[in-house]
Amino acid sequence: MKNYASHYINGQWVAAHSADRFPVHDSSTEEVFACVPAGDADEAANAVLAAREAFEAWSATPVEARAALLDKVAAGLKARTDELALTIAREVGMPLKLARAIQVGGPTWGWGHFAKVARGFEWEQQVGNSRVLREPIGVVACITPWNFPLNQITLKVAAALAAGCTVVLKPSEIAPVNAMILAEIIHEAGFPPGVFNLVNGAGPVVGEVLASHPEVDMVSFTGSTRAGKRVAELAAHSVKRVALELGGKSASVVLPDADFPAAIKGSVSACLLNSGQTCSAHTRLLVPEDRYDEVKALAQAAIARFAIGPSLDEASKLGPLISAAQRDRVLGFIEQGLREGAELVAGGPERPAFDKGYFVQPTILRVKPGDTLAREEIFGPVLVIITYREEEEAIRIANDTIYGLGGGVWSGDEAHAVAVARRIRTGQIDINGGPFNPQAPFGGYKQSGNGRENGIYGFEEFLEYKSLQFQPA
Ligand code: NAD
Repeated sequence: MKNYASHYINGQWVAAHSADRFPVHDSSTEEVFACVPAGDADEAANAVLAAREAFEAWSATPVEARAALLDKVAAGLKARTDELALTIAREVGMPLKLARAIQVGGPTWGWGHFAKVARGFEWEQQVGNSRVLREPIGVVACITPWNFPLNQITLKVAAALAAGCTVVLKPSEIAPVNAMILAEIIHEAGFPPGVFNLVNGAGPVVGEVLASHPEVDMVSFTGSTRAGKRVAELAAHSVKRVALELGGKSASVVLPDADFPAAIKGSVSACLLNSGQTCSAHTRLLVPEDRYDEVKALAQAAIARFAIGPSLDEASKLGPLISAAQRDRVLGFIEQGLREGAELVAGGPERPAFDKGYFVQPTILRVKPGDTLAREEIFGPVLVIITYREEEEAIRIANDTIYGLGGGVWSGDEAHAVAVARRIRTGQIDINGGPFNPQAPFGGYKQSGNGRENGIYGFEEFLEYKSLQFQPA
């Protein structure tokens, strides 16, 4: 077992004050394979002060020098791909091959991409008698969740560093090992001390110190809507900028003229990625009522392709959930749905036949709008089917949620799909299964958050405007 005993503060590994540790479980075997320190308030504050101290010089470092260091991190991640893929497959439970491509390949590309964005960015613009400068916002606290851990870290840390900010990262205490490997890579790349800092610990301890510390200029948070609200409240006292990427309950709207086999197969896949532990998962499937029987048969066939199994088993298409708590929460939702009268279409609450691991059967239920399962983010492999009669009703149901993160529209007529997509209040919509684009802005309307990540849009979140006024010529 790997026992991490230090935080990374001011360019050094610093022994943790306390002997308290967070155990990290292999979600397929339940074995504890690592542990990380439970940081305290002083350690969080020390990291903030180191980042503050480093900010002036880092923000004045030429863009090319900053970008070159990011490229080194990308090369370092590439060199340790096997180790990172194995680590995340164990921490999160995603099957190894998928973890390698999505959980490691994506972030490796991302570090190089933010270097490119910084190099090509227009840092100054003339507007009338003003020169408008873009400058880094300052010290950024990055608080991240466990489901795509290295990717969520990259979208914040790589973008902020490229922009000229200094950073304190508090990764998820449930999947922190990938972040420790990243810190080793950042250390080897040779960033100046204090530019990047990492403190492990609990959200209500380390996270709350970061969110409220007066020397933090911005907090970038990804996680639950509940914790995001708390972070925003704490940050308000010092008027920090707050970027929130929160929960979702995204709808896949299948219009009557869609290619049904493709639409149902695509929607089931868009729900089940990472065992449904994806904030933008399409977890509500909206279909015409008079086509329900056809949809049901197609959905049953689609879900049968997702063989569940341990993340290191080549045959697994779907891994376990991340933790016992998450498994029990998801099973509780399935049971509640059945109690409320949902029709079980596939799967169910029975435990799959594995001795160990936090497995839940991929499950489909038919529910009514307003039912608990139609409203709550489940964060597991659970798809609900809701039927509609008219297109207007489909749009109304799609928007009938506190969330506004993602979704899909399926239609034989692309212009029709786009017209419907324009009326759905979410930050992303996939037309006929259009794939994820890491250069397009990603983020939420409504209680799914504010701010955007990915590409130049995510990069600009970490910048301020400054206008210099000149006497007109
Ligand atoms: P979580 O809110 O429990 O934890 C996220 C992070 O916040 C962790 O690092 C945690 O330690 C920290 N935290 C918890 N309480 C805190 C507090 N009071 N103050 C400061 N920090 C605190 O979420 P999770 O269980 O790790 O992740 C799942 C949730 O994240 C889901 O709701 C999912 O939809 C959401 N999510 C959203 C996106 C997005 O981009 N919109 C992406 C991934 C996950």
